[in-house]
Amino acid sequence: MKHLRAFIILLIMGAAYSVSAKDGVERPKLVVGLVIDQMRWDYLYRYYDLYGSTGFKRLLKDGFSCENTMINYVPTFTAPGHTCIYSGSVPSIHGIAGNNWIDNTTGKGVYCTDDNTVHMVGTTDPAAPPMSPRNLLTSTITDELRLATNMGSKVYGVAIKDRSSILPAGHMANAAYWIDDSTGSFNSSSYYSNPNPTWLQAFNNRHIADSLIKLNWELLLPATSYSQSLEDASRYERSFKGEKAPIFPHKIESLTGKSRYNAFKATPAGNTITFDLARACIEGEQLGAGKNADFLCISLSSTDYAGHQFGPNSVEIEDMYLRLDREIGDYLSYLDNTVGKGKYLLFLTADHGAAHNPQFLIDEELPAGVMNNGITAELKQYLKAKTGRDSIVKGFENYQYYIDEQFISKAGLDREQIKKYMVEFLKGKKEIAYVADLERLYEAQLPEPLKTMVVNGYNRNRSGVVQVVLNPAWYENSGPITGTTHGTWNPYDSHIPLLWFGWHVPKGASNKVCHMTDIAATLAAMLHVQQPNGCIGEPIEEIFGK
Ligand SMILES: [Zn+2]
Repeated sequence: MKHLRAFIILLIMGAAYSVSAKDGVERPKLVVGLVIDQMRWDYLYRYYDLYGSTGFKRLLKDGFSCENTMINYVPTFTAPGHTCIYSGSVPSIHGIAGNNWIDNTTGKGVYCTDDNTVHMVGTTDPAAPPMSPRNLLTSTITDELRLATNMGSKVYGVAIKDRSSILPAGHMANAAYWIDDSTGSFNSSSYYSNPNPTWLQAFNNRHIADSLIKLNWELLLPATSYSQSLEDASRYERSFKGEKAPIFPHKIESLTGKSRYNAFKATPAGNTITFDLARACIEGEQLGAGKNADFLCISLSSTDYAGHQFGPNSVEIEDMYLRLDREIGDYLSYLDNTVGKGKYLLFLTADHGAAHNPQFLIDEELPAGVMNNGITAELKQYLKAKTGRDSIVKGFENYQYYIDEQFISKAGLDREQIKKYMVEFLKGKKEIAYVADLERLYEAQLPEPLKTMVVNGYNRNRSGVVQVVLNPAWYENSGPITGTTHGTWNPYDSHIPLLWFGWHVPKGASNKVCHMTDIAATLAAMLHVQQPNGCIGEPIEEIFGK
């Protein structure tokens, strides 16, 4: 009897082991990251009634929505956003402190993906600065997938914006591709092992951007259907360069030179070409067809260009999202047909949201406003009066003032006293709610979650020394108050959509607060790979189902 029991236990154990050995680690065939630049969370519902059934509604109905996903750092800009999504980390740790910053050790301005040790591949523009992910200090979930599969997994990034393609794809990507402003074709960098494959050359030879430009930007639906926007000719919008008024139809075709491709990037056609490239990449590289899980990072940048120009209450943004909704629907059915239903894991999120246009809010009796660069000029004068020196302030980026460290130390000035003067002066400004010495944050009277967001956003080598927090609904803007922007801690900038869909994702939604840093931690748990090495997020338990 005893022997029989032991024999049965052994049999069961043997069966269990053989099953696990045969099945291996379970992973989807393909992971698709869809980051929509400047998509406010509320766009899911603002335009809901006009969405079709195959795009956002399919993701909401058949997938899982984390309804209260918040960005947990400032500044809420594109490069830190894309980096946080894929690294699960914050600027303090991952080092992407803004789209631009000043390096405090050299005093030089840096663009997030600048790298003059590499060269551009596939561009005809000699002025195109060379790029790579080398300024990113941590690994990404895409890197970790490559590491976990001994480079068996393929990783690609596609986007119109260089930073939105490069940073998600990480350090170990096979390649990242982004648009060449001078030709409308896609290029890459010598940093990657596969910067100019033949399928990409064939794609570029189709001159898709030029064909799309010829179609101009017309409304998708009859003009009377656009119920969620102000009149088309509202005064809160900005025309394309070379265009007379910011109204439909936008005749992109009639624009010339660089403004032609720049305008193209700000139309829904920019999303069309990005999805076209994402299809070509899947086919060219056979993504999702191998034995390892592959990862395709798609970032849609046109939503941001148009958002900056027209603002959230424009017919342009309403049309942008209605068209994007249809494009997402088409792309999902493409993935169903190529990779297979339930065999790919897709997540959709945004790198940040956007404010309402402050002038629109003022006209509607809401408190709002802008901080213009006059404050910086006054601050410089104030410091000159106090110290007798010019050129103490080096720059204002990411709502932070940088000081000229090299000049201050050479001139033997009292650095602590200078910061005190700056804080004292800025506190007297009506635009500003809080001012904090970033090296003495413990002294600043910042409420949560703002305090944590400032701490998370502060990188000693790449951030300024004094943080400025404006009043709600205020942002930095000099010149006419048209369109919109982002970058602040406020919910309109920091509350982002987060939808999960496909492989092992249950249907449902949660109102529990989660953070942008949780996305990479959740992906790591789902894919059974190590978290990125600067990840501070936690897996979102709800989407693991029962
Ligand atoms: Zn952005």
